[in-house]
Amino acid sequence: LCPTYKGPDYDEVVKLKGTFLNPVLVTHFSQPLLIHDGHMQWLFDHTGKRYLDLFGGIVTVSVGHCHPKVLAAATEQLNKLWHTTNIYLHPKIHEYAQRLAEKLPADLNVVYFVNSGSEANDLAMMMARLYTGNFDIISLRNSYHGASPYTAGLTAQGTWKYNFANGFGIHNAINPDPYRGLWGGHRDSPVQSVRSNESEVVDGVCSSTQKYIDQLQEVLMYSLPKGKLAAFFAESIQGVGGTVQYPLGYLKKAFELVRSHGGLCVSDEVQTGFGRTGEHFWGFEGHGVVPDIVTMAKGMGNGFPIAAVVTTSAVAKTMSQALHFNTFGGNPVASAVGVSVLEVLEEEKTQEKALEVGTYFLHSLAKLREEYPVVGDVRGKGLMIGMEMVQDSTSRTPLSPHLMMQIWDTCKDHGVLLGKGGFHGNVFRIKPPMCINRDDVDFTVTVLRQALQPTNLL
Ligand code: PMP
Repeated sequence: LCPTYKGPDYDEVVKLKGTFLNPVLVTHFSQPLLIHDGHMQWLFDHTGKRYLDLFGGIVTVSVGHCHPKVLAAATEQLNKLWHTTNIYLHPKIHEYAQRLAEKLPADLNVVYFVNSGSEANDLAMMMARLYTGNFDIISLRNSYHGASPYTAGLTAQGTWKYNFANGFGIHNAINPDPYRGLWGGHRDSPVQSVRSNESEVVDGVCSSTQKYIDQLQEVLMYSLPKGKLAAFFAESIQGVGGTVQYPLGYLKKAFELVRSHGGLCVSDEVQTGFGRTGEHFWGFEGHGVVPDIVTMAKGMGNGFPIAAVVTTSAVAKTMSQALHFNTFGGNPVASAVGVSVLEVLEEEKTQEKALEVGTYFLHSLAKLREEYPVVGDVRGKGLMIGMEMVQDSTSRTPLSPHLMMQIWDTCKDHGVLLGKGGFHGNVFRIKPPMCINRDDVDFTVTVLRQALQPTNLL
């Protein structure tokens, strides 16, 4: 039964948004949806229509909208105590820190709670600079690490940049993208890039990988003072950049190179953490690396604002030279929610399901790639999926914004909400609450077929 909407009418809400909210606040679709209720993988609009949510509030709803167990944990804590700013001991924050640390490799055992992904990456930048005594940081082109003044420098997509000095001391290396990059490559996905034949895999490393590593080496040689690197930041799979996976072996070799230049390695797990990639709890595990600092947010709280930085005691020790404090980070409600999310992930075997349903999803979308020339690339792991749309598969010219919008709107009209991203805005992003099932996948593919009919693309 669809919940009834009781708020102000649609036109009134649109007017309020236009008058009082950030004018570049992203709204999806040609006509924004007014969503007022959600349950697991479903969202409901003001007319009572139900949608399958394949974007989960930008990869944030991990175990399901208003998941009953998470809801109960939040409600119980709200009835007891919301906040004390960590000036007293509180059992939930300590339990949560321990449980989170147990999910990470043994050396990563000190947790700093913050409230957003940008805040987490800001703090990670500061940690790396303090620990190494160096200032310069490298991130990858096409990455997204946040929009705060510090992290806007790490984020390497011009569309997210303002005209002020936000990238001081930050350098961007070439993005190792097997589909759009210079040298093709194999990736860790059930669906290979059409350009995988441009590269050989020897001992789990792609031949294109070395070429991208050479480019990283050039950044180190030409742009930085010798041996003065503070950190290298990378998403385990690029999220906002359009679910870009690196050629096999890239991250491992990049970490080795970075460490040989004295830098720390930071894995941004804001989108890829908490089982989303299926095979592993953390995206970096799929690359066979252990970072020095891990940042996390989004799925961590299933939509509740929580984030964290986890690092080694050695790094934490350098942070102890001054006081460090965060008013809301790890508050009792956030911690109660965080613990319950970890429990649900375990009880419902969410990671295993993400692998099973995600692999089925990827194979189903790969069939669409064979049928429709506008589907250029299908990629990802688990429920971290991208479908890159092009004018034709030979030129790989990005599909026009007009046609992207048409497909996007048609899917929405048929009840499927996709995400969109990529540097050219031509990648459909599928990163749903991880409770979706095979029926939801079949429904999505039927809807996509309808939206992709050449006669419907005018
Ligand atoms: N890192 C990644 C990989 C992200 O996708 C995002 C948000 N899209 C951030 C950091 C920043 O998170 P927040 O919006 O919570 O500041």
